[in-house]
Amino acid sequence: MHRSTNTGECLVCFKSVLNGLNLFELIVYDDVLCGYCRKQLVQLNQSYDVNGLSVYAFYRYNKVLEKWMYQFKENKDETLGKCFIYNLKRWIEWEYRGYVLVFVPSSIEKTRERGFLPLSSLFSSITLDRRDCLVKDNIKQSKLNRMERSEIQSYIHLYDESIRLCPKVLLVDDVCTTGASLKACYDLIKTKDNLVKICVIGLNESWIR
Ligand SMILES: [Zn+2]
Repeated sequence: MHRSTNTGECLVCFKSVLNGLNLFELIVYDDVLCGYCRKQLVQLNQSYDVNGLSVYAFYRYNKVLEKWMYQFKENKDETLGKCFIYNLKRWIEWEYRGYVLVFVPSSIEKTRERGFLPLSSLFSSITLDRRDCLVKDNIKQSKLNRMERSEIQSYIHLYDESIRLCPKVLLVDDVCTTGASLKACYDLIKTKDNLVKICVIGLNESWIR
């Protein structure tokens, strides 16, 4: 199939996506960010040990990613959300073929406040099967700040246990900070018979060595 070249506006700076490219990049470029803005994200594309879990991370969670993620999630800029995995779609679908996507849940209150599901929106272009099976109780922000890492486990529940029968599950979160939510979800889904892989968009710097 002929590769289409995106010649539109960058989702961040609104200038031509062709800005900041060298000659080779100009020929093959297919992105929703211009060269300058894309280079502000630091790609990792490898696995890291997060409290004993193997977590595959696409980007370092730097100030730029933090700002764009906030703009996407809290200012409901769903279009900007496209930039995070636009250039990774084919790799994700190939690498995780046969896996069922499960998203780390946001609380019902937070979801109501936002009016959309950020992770579901982020991965909307990915053609893997997905399953809603986890739910998170409402936690007051003041409590969340004081909460012990291990405590978060009591706030996340598995309401559809049939996911544990799926042989391959891909657990996904947008940002991995302490890894506590991922660990809680992983423990709920993992059995001795299934394979549960984890990937995140952004990984906190403290896990990167
Ligand atoms: Zn730009």
